[in-house]
Amino acid sequence: MSFSPSFVRQLILGKSSFILSHTQFKRVILTGQLALVAFVVCFAYIVFDLSAGVTYSWPYQAVGAAAGLGSFFLNRYRQFTLAKVVLALGVNFTLFVFTSSEPAATGLYAFYIPICLGAIAGFGYEDRWWASLFIGLSLSLCLVSMLTDFHVMPLLDESPAYIKVNQVINVLSSATASILILYFLINVNHRAEATMKASEEQLIKKNQELTKLNAELDRFVYSSSHDLRAPLTSLMGLIHLTELTNDVGELKMYAKLMKDRVKDLDKFIRDISDYSRNARLVVVPEELNVKKTVREVLETLRFYPGSDKIEVEIAIDEALTIKSDPTRLKMILSNLVSNSFKYSDPGKEKPMVKIHSSAIREATVLEVEDNGLGIDPESLPRIFDMFYQAHDKTNGSGLGLYIVKETVEKLGGQIRAESVAGSGSRFQVKLPNPLNGHAKMD
Ligand code: ADP
Repeated sequence: MSFSPSFVRQLILGKSSFILSHTQFKRVILTGQLALVAFVVCFAYIVFDLSAGVTYSWPYQAVGAAAGLGSFFLNRYRQFTLAKVVLALGVNFTLFVFTSSEPAATGLYAFYIPICLGAIAGFGYEDRWWASLFIGLSLSLCLVSMLTDFHVMPLLDESPAYIKVNQVINVLSSATASILILYFLINVNHRAEATMKASEEQLIKKNQELTKLNAELDRFVYSSSHDLRAPLTSLMGLIHLTELTNDVGELKMYAKLMKDRVKDLDKFIRDISDYSRNARLVVVPEELNVKKTVREVLETLRFYPGSDKIEVEIAIDEALTIKSDPTRLKMILSNLVSNSFKYSDPGKEKPMVKIHSSAIREATVLEVEDNGLGIDPESLPRIFDMFYQAHDKTNGSGLGLYIVKETVEKLGGQIRAESVAGSGSRFQVKLPNPLNGHAKMD
């Protein structure tokens, strides 16, 4: 059996004892240790004095030893306050008996300092009244033995050399005991500070998240009411126009325009539901074949207006797999690819979209590249903001890329965009491979 910290803990607390608070746990251990020290020191003095032929002091030392032992067991059987009271009474009594009968030069008085510190450390803030009571008792006993002739035992009359040795031993051991108790107090304080700092940091983080959410909510309520009303207002206008004409050609044109407005509304509502689904639902990763997933997404975009004029190239290894959430992954790809269709450049001879993917050690990289309209440098940093639109007169909501970014982040990945106005854009998504941690952009 080694004298390890867990051995001391088991000796003091017993096997099954379990204390919730760390500070309380430390205090109980400290009480147990001080009780043991009191017992061992008093017992050693009994043996030492008896072997030196001094017979009058052992009953008082025995009181100190019994108080130490009693306190130790009371502490072990969870009578924490009683254990401390018994120890403080025993130690004060024994010290008083000896300080009152010894000359001040032995330095035994110095022990009143660690006893007072021990009362503060042992009882703690919760039991500060007990601590004050015992500090008062110790100081009173110290004054009585210093200022009066009251003594319990015969007065000690030893040689100056003996007294000097006692002085050195007493001062050094009381200083050591004081330092250990102070160390305990600092340690407990440090721990409390660290816990407070950690919870403060958590609070700041939560606060920042809340501020961001609040700002987004504000913007959302403002813009969504506009985006929901705009198609409805133009629908009302178109309905009014159909009422004024009987011309079949004109009616067909209005019907097509109405259909477009309804599609806008539908896209907007789908965007909102994508956003809420991403925020609400837990990530459920599955092993997915990347090329197959891209093909499934392209299939859903088959009838996207203008997509028939765009050449789509998929540069992905047939065997490439990724462990990711399928719904979220498809949503990301669908938004990026449909944007490439939407912002394609009709002036280009060969409009194209290239979807590329590869796996590096810790991440899978997905890229959607086009030779479309591109984005000007002032707008590029803002395209992931909620409701931001870099091109005029599009039928989008400005929500797509914002939701894509939120979703990529929910999957532990990162997204970035490069673009040259007039030339084209490239969106790169890095998603972590679960076993190797988070993806980092270079
Ligand atoms: P929207 O619903 O307007 O398409 P998004 O959030 O998807 O909103 O995109 C934000 C803005 O970024 C778009 O309004 C558009 O100006 C620009 N954008 C996104 N993707 C592309 C792209 N592939 N090419 C050019 N511009 C793009």
